Amino acid sequence: MNTTTDFIASASESILKTYNRQPINFDYGKGVYLFDTHGKKYLDFGSGVGVNALGYGNKAFNDALKAQIDKVLHISNLYYNTPAIEAAQKLRRACGLDKVFFTNSGTESIEGALKVAKKYAFQKGLKNPQIIAMNNSFHGRTLGALSVTGNTSYQKPFLPLIPDVVFADFNNFESVEKFINDNTCAIILESVQGESGVTPATKEFLSQIRRICDEKDIVLILDEIQCGMGRSGKMFAYQHYGIKPDVLTSAKALGCGVPVGAFVVSEKIAKHSLQPGDHGSTYGGNPFVCAAVSKVFDLFEELSLIQNVQNMTTILESKINALCKKYNFLIDHRGLGLLRGIELEERIHSKDIIVRAQEKGLIILPAGHNTLRIAPPLVIDSSHIDEMIEILDSILREI
Ligand SMILES: *Cc1c(COP(=O)(O)O)cnc(C)c1O
Repeated sequence: MNTTTDFIASASESILKTYNRQPINFDYGKGVYLFDTHGKKYLDFGSGVGVNALGYGNKAFNDALKAQIDKVLHISNLYYNTPAIEAAQKLRRACGLDKVFFTNSGTESIEGALKVAKKYAFQKGLKNPQIIAMNNSFHGRTLGALSVTGNTSYQKPFLPLIPDVVFADFNNFESVEKFINDNTCAIILESVQGESGVTPATKEFLSQIRRICDEKDIVLILDEIQCGMGRSGKMFAYQHYGIKPDVLTSAKALGCGVPVGAFVVSEKIAKHSLQPGDHGSTYGGNPFVCAAVSKVFDLFEELSLIQNVQNMTTILESKINALCKKYNFLIDHRGLGLLRGIELEERIHSKDIIVRAQEKGLIILPAGHNTLRIAPPLVIDSSHIDEMIEILDSILREI
């Protein structure tokens, strides 16, 4: 499997083609760099779509994983395990909510959050519980999560999905308000819309949503699978807004590469929603993944990662702004912390720039067809930002 044509042929023979993959086969990573099977080095400003907050090859993290492997990988949720208890304590402290359920992915965290809201509505006696979701949102690919994902092309081949979901416009409170009635059981949104172009919620919008949810006893679900876990410059992005959700969903950087997610519920909603028998997962919260989560929280503290994100954000933001001044086809720059979107004129496709960046040894991501998404590991220093900007500038110069 030495040549590019070899691994592409082998993959197309055996892997279901649900992705249009780039012709790169990564072999290992070190710090914020990835190396492919030809030995070519890439600066990684995509971090496995926001997963690898610690970068690659963090020794303390890897040692903690190895130690847990030698103890026990899996028990079952019929018993207790210390790593899960510790991980849950650290997560609840970090997010300010109360009760944790560990899942195996982001989309499963959404499924759980939707079940919490539905059960809460059931307990209240709602006959036709409705959910308000947002246009241009992304919550995952399983049927429940897809039902609240505001993207008709993702949904169309899989209709009918779960009923009674309506879509409002993100950052437009009036469009949300007009859907609210006595059957509304939940509002679900991303604090920062990621996949559709990196759009943070406005302060006004989120506080109005919080207020109406309080007034009408509606469950507010904030999806922080991408923008949470330090990426925004706070542990969770809603902490910039001075509000809290009733249910938080997390995944991606929660395990920094180990597949784990979680939903976290406020005490009040927990008491009146999922009870023994209502939900479960064989793997969910096993000792191995929870040892990872626990160590991730420890390392966030030891490495002062939130402070580093804040420092690096100031530098990255001003350098991207300078690029936007220099090139008038960069028409907008949005984001929060180390999750940034650079919108290109309609005629320029993000994919073309991403391919050229790869040729020059830089990994960045798309977000929609004409927005570049920048989401580096949270451990970057300013020299990595300089290197990224230099490569990006050299590509933009040729457009
Ligand atoms: C990635 C993502 C998901 C889905 O997570 P998976 O682990 O891929 O299932 C859900 N919501 C948001 C905001 C995401 O970025």
